[in-house]
Amino acid sequence: MIEKALTTLKRYYGYSTFKEGQEQIIHNILQGHDTVGIMPTGGGKSICFQIPALLFSGITIVISPLISLMKDQVDTLNSLGIPASFINSSLTKGEVTERIREAGTGRYKILYVAPERLESGLFRAVTASVDISMVAIDEAHCISQWGHDFRPSYRSISPFIKGLPERPVVTAFTATATEEVTRDIIKLLSMKKSAAHVMGFNRENLSFAVVRGQNKQDFTMNFLSGSPGQAGIIYAATRKETDNLYSLLSRKGYSVGRYHAGLTDEERMKTQEAFIYDDINIMVATNAFGMGIDKSNVRYVIHYNMPKNMEAYYQEAGRAGRDGDPGQCILLFNPQDILLQKFLIEQTVSSPERKAGEYKKLQTMVDYCHTTGCLRKYILQYFGEEHAFQNCGSCSSCNDDSELNDITVEAQKIFSCIKHMHERFGSTLVAEVLKGSQNKKVIQFGFDRLSTYGLMKEYTLKEIKDMINVLIAEGYLYSTEGQYPVVKISPKAFPVLKGEGGVWQKIRKKQVQLKQDESLFELLRALRKEISAKENVPPYVVFPDSTLREMCSSLPTDSTSMLAVKGVGEIKFQNYGSLFIEVIRNYVNEHNLSPQNNNPISPVELPSGRSLDTDGIQDTGHREEEEEPSHLITYKMYQAGQTVREIAKDRGLKPVTIENHIIRCGLEGHWVDWDAIIPQEYETLILETIHEIGTEKLRLLKDALPDGVSYFAIRAVMCKYRDNTFKPVKEG
Ligand code: ADP
Ligand code: ZN
Repeated sequence: MIEKALTTLKRYYGYSTFKEGQEQIIHNILQGHDTVGIMPTGGGKSICFQIPALLFSGITIVISPLISLMKDQVDTLNSLGIPASFINSSLTKGEVTERIREAGTGRYKILYVAPERLESGLFRAVTASVDISMVAIDEAHCISQWGHDFRPSYRSISPFIKGLPERPVVTAFTATATEEVTRDIIKLLSMKKSAAHVMGFNRENLSFAVVRGQNKQDFTMNFLSGSPGQAGIIYAATRKETDNLYSLLSRKGYSVGRYHAGLTDEERMKTQEAFIYDDINIMVATNAFGMGIDKSNVRYVIHYNMPKNMEAYYQEAGRAGRDGDPGQCILLFNPQDILLQKFLIEQTVSSPERKAGEYKKLQTMVDYCHTTGCLRKYILQYFGEEHAFQNCGSCSSCNDDSELNDITVEAQKIFSCIKHMHERFGSTLVAEVLKGSQNKKVIQFGFDRLSTYGLMKEYTLKEIKDMINVLIAEGYLYSTEGQYPVVKISPKAFPVLKGEGGVWQKIRKKQVQLKQDESLFELLRALRKEISAKENVPPYVVFPDSTLREMCSSLPTDSTSMLAVKGVGEIKFQNYGSLFIEVIRNYVNEHNLSPQNNNPISPVELPSGRSLDTDGIQDTGHREEEEEPSHLITYKMYQAGQTVREIAKDRGLKPVTIENHIIRCGLEGHWVDWDAIIPQEYETLILETIHEIGTEKLRLLKDALPDGVSYFAIRAVMCKYRDNTFKPVKEG
């Protein structure tokens, strides 16, 4: 049975092996057993119910609370060639009725619904008459009051299942469930003989770092300049901090958006879209951002402030690297953050027991920021997992190669200065006095007459402030609460002042940035973006980063090697395979590389631009060499007078593929009657808009033009004028 599942995995998703835990869970479901699956974010939960859904005879109903995710998931499924749909409140009444009716005809294998829908009379009437093989419940912890996100609407699931003429297999999935919550899920869903499958919380592709005693802003700017073009999230604790950071990054020219509860729904939706579609790289946000975001190619998550507890931290940090490629999770710690979190607890929690609980959780977060042990081990231990390893090799503790710098003398000077200023001022003024600044405030308070005035004038003001930060982070000093925090001396500093202890500052070795050859990756990314804009799905739905990376390393230039790439299933191959092969072939030819497959190509055989089209492959995944290229077959039918839709229908391909074929033929020098494609009344407008916006971003062009102008028309204009007016997108 599991072989069938493997074949399905390869065929639709293009993966050859299951991730940890998937096989076990799928096996269990295929045996007809109710199943609870608990896996960390990015663990691959969706496939656990989607593959059984494909193998079962009837339809699978997936219950999910996240309306914003449904469209994404259904788009992904459709792009894999799996008939799926969703029903939620984002649709009009008419659309809902239509989809319910279609579901009744058995058109879909998978139907996503919001839990509220289960109470609708029409939905119940239709579902009573269709063959439902499975009900899969996503975010299943929402059913339990003990979970962190209880939703009353989840209580209608059980009556819904009980009301069905035949009991389907019931499965439940979540990333976070304590034992108590798991027991609750099983009980409330009356799951039969169900065993919970708990996968580890470990996310091996993520690396963890805590940065203490460094200027956050400098660190962030430095980090960003080393990761150009990569997608990342920066979480800040407050709206104000979010706004400040956002303005700073925009001023520096970064492609950045912001997200917090103080913005209008529309602003937030727009920014979120832009981030999902790779139109902006950096999202600066409060913790309001992220729920229901499935973007898989987030490469780093920086916490500009320490969050309130480990659960929140791991959930937010876990948004990095969902595609399995490396993700960096960096927490910038400043003792000030503790005060802020305490303040928030005081403001929002009233019951004394809960307050105590929150403080305890906060303390474990603070300890995480101070531990010198392995960070990964700390996290996993927190979630109840014991691991044998001591050193994970990919956290800032395990990779600590920093040098220790003895700053005992400097610390003594700082302590002494603070004492002389009677512990009544903030770190900036202390630093200015030590620097010997002529600042008005310094003179006004007569600090220029202190013995410590100018005692550290060989340092820059920033270096002195950094040292003060280190002393705060290490507990020698502390900072008071309030709008104007004052630095004071902790007992830990006394021995140092008496010359009985030393203080060290960690100096990070300058990080070496690995410069990889990114040019092919960028080309593939650009192609992905173009397809994404055309098909109106996020880029990672076309292919995840990990798949593009694998293409970069294995350089597939024929159908067999392309189909071997992880993430290239048959339908995706049919739809996009030839486009990517074309880019890779050109790249391989231009750079004189040898592709890693069995039939290396010679430039003579395949001059650049002549693409080996592999559309239209049916089951074998191979195409006979002498078979006519698919785009030329299309071309002939098109020239014979058939419309794009007719050809698509005849050939069982998507209209968009047929349009691609025609464009390609044009670029390859075949005659195409562009004027038949371009609506005459818009031709000038399209041309002018192209001159204004350029041809890099088709989607921008499309948005700037009237609705009646299709992508096909825009591309036709680009082809028609490609020789004299502007650089074409792709050279023939
Ligand atoms: P979750 O819902 O558990 O957060 P997803 O179902 O979104 O995780 O899967 C996370 C990522 O892992 C997706 O990009 C998915 O395509 C990928 N993935 C899932 N199963 C496999 C597999 N067997 N091999 C490789 N990648 C996989
Ligand atoms: Zn470690």
